[in-house]
Amino acid sequence: MSGRMFIASVKPWPLAAAWLGLGLLLAACILSGPADAVERDPRGELKRVLMLHSFGREFRPWSEYARSIKAGLERQSPWPLDIQEHTLLSARFNNPGPEAPFVDYLDSLYQGAPPDIVLSIGAPAARFVQRYRAKLFPDTPMVLTVVEQRLVKRDDLTDNDVVVAVRNDFMAAFSNILRVRPDTKTVGMVIGASPLEKFWIDEVKRELKPLSDRVELVWYSDLPFEEILKRAARLPPDTVLFWGLMSVDAAGIVHEGDLALRRLRAVANAPIFSYQEAFFGDGTIGGPMQLTGETSRRTVDAVTRILGGERPASIKYETIEFGPPRYDWRELQRWGISESSLPADSEVVFRTPTMWEVYHREIVLIAAIILVQAGLISGLLHERQRRRVAEVESRQRLAELAHANRYSAVGELTTSIAHELNQPLGSILTNTETAELMLSGASPDIDEIRLILADIRRDDQRASEVIRRLRSVLRKSPFEIKDIELNNTVREAIDLVAAVAHGRRTMLIYLPILSDLRVKGDPVQLQQVVLNVIINAMDAVSDADTQRREVSVSTSRVGNQAEIKIADTGSGIAAGDLANVFKPFFTTKPQGMGMGLAIVRTIVEAHHGTIVAENLPSGGALFTIRYPIIG
Ligand code: ADP
Repeated sequence: MSGRMFIASVKPWPLAAAWLGLGLLLAACILSGPADAVERDPRGELKRVLMLHSFGREFRPWSEYARSIKAGLERQSPWPLDIQEHTLLSARFNNPGPEAPFVDYLDSLYQGAPPDIVLSIGAPAARFVQRYRAKLFPDTPMVLTVVEQRLVKRDDLTDNDVVVAVRNDFMAAFSNILRVRPDTKTVGMVIGASPLEKFWIDEVKRELKPLSDRVELVWYSDLPFEEILKRAARLPPDTVLFWGLMSVDAAGIVHEGDLALRRLRAVANAPIFSYQEAFFGDGTIGGPMQLTGETSRRTVDAVTRILGGERPASIKYETIEFGPPRYDWRELQRWGISESSLPADSEVVFRTPTMWEVYHREIVLIAAIILVQAGLISGLLHERQRRRVAEVESRQRLAELAHANRYSAVGELTTSIAHELNQPLGSILTNTETAELMLSGASPDIDEIRLILADIRRDDQRASEVIRRLRSVLRKSPFEIKDIELNNTVREAIDLVAAVAHGRRTMLIYLPILSDLRVKGDPVQLQQVVLNVIINAMDAVSDADTQRREVSVSTSRVGNQAEIKIADTGSGIAAGDLANVFKPFFTTKPQGMGMGLAIVRTIVEAHHGTIVAENLPSGGALFTIRYPIIG
């Protein structure tokens, strides 16, 4: 039932307004004399439509037509409709039983109150309403729709009937099969066993006679559907299936809806063709098909015109032919049918959209993000490269500066170094002269001469060592990171200045930690740091009394850092200068450059270390240097 109800929801004040309006209308009527008949709103008049189904309300393909017709009527009818649906169950039986009880039922239902129109769906329903028209609905207009033109009983038509007929063009359907599958030799005909279906078997055979040389038709009408499924699963090559009608199979089992077709498709090893648009999209390939939409449109047109008062005899329609061919893209893919084999005017539907079609927005967005990211990354890489170049350049400069600074430091030490070299050279000379004298004697003491030579060798080695150390400090080397043992590096620096300390009568004490201190760095530069700070310390103590001239160097480990402490017994750094000692060109010495500690700090920081200057409570200065320990 799909009648409409009108419920008025009325609020109090509009009610008062309505009474007022009615009063005014009455007054107007009285003033204007006798009233004309009030024109009725046509929408107010309920129209009763009796819809008779052939097999059942949910029986495909007719259910699709009925659904579409009802939707069209609801949309287009100017009146509220009461669509009363009934089903002619007798069409479902292979051996139809008596129809009398159903006729009596309808008779008692509509006695004295016939519907405004009778609408039959499908050939069995059309035949039924025609047969019982005189008894049940003698004066009611009828629309016989979804009837194949061969099944219309023309002789029984009255002036009160309209026919919406269709034509099944089997030749067109089979030409389509042979076009898309040219190698087809056999067609398995899936069709049921109801009287209607049996009618079609003969019709199809007759119509397809011209093709009997090309294809063999194998009929499944006398098989239960389960058996048809088994056969469909192992069809020989060059066979296709043709889905005709499958309402009731040979076993008397009724197949409503689309389940039977879906089961067939699931097992079949060959493509399924059909002219029924109602099954298109559920597994059939497609081709020229009945037009559900057009048939429904004409039916709705006929019903509304008749209900509007038009004479049925004046409403005539041409038989509806198959529509232009349409194909299911998914099935074409499944069976490897090329679109180039389809007729030019065909349409391919149910195309699975490509990734691009479905996600093009997302793809564009992601591509844009990737592009931006790529841009950023290349920008960052460029920046990193630039920085690296700048870093290398600055290290280069630092190395050069450090080298110059080492020269000046060594320059400061020249006198002491000369003294240190003079000493072994002087002893070598004295020892050589002594040896010569002994050799010029009558019986030279060979053992004594051997001892003198050993002394000469030792002094020579001492002088060589001084020169080696000097060379290593003055070597102009690029910044070079190595794994080093910090205690040794500090010892080298101390050895270099030891003679100087001696010459200046300064006590130089070294207290290394007994375990290894492994750090990463440039050995020459780390040595230079220690050297600079020690020279400053020696400068600081030079004014003190000779007994109090002391520079002590110690190493230790603090957490994961290696620490070098260089303390002196000088007068310390003036409180106001503590913040400035590491600044370039800060000096308190008359001949000073003020670059030593600035370079020291730069080197320490380039090695990820720290350097701090402070004053000791005892008076002198203390420099603490820390570097990270490896591992
Ligand atoms: P320069 O030695 O040429 O003056 P530096 O940068 O090495 O340059 O030292 C800067 C200043 O820091 C020195 O002039 C001095 O005033 C102060 N200074 C450095 N070490 C000490 C120290 N051990 N005791 C006192 N003052 C120091």
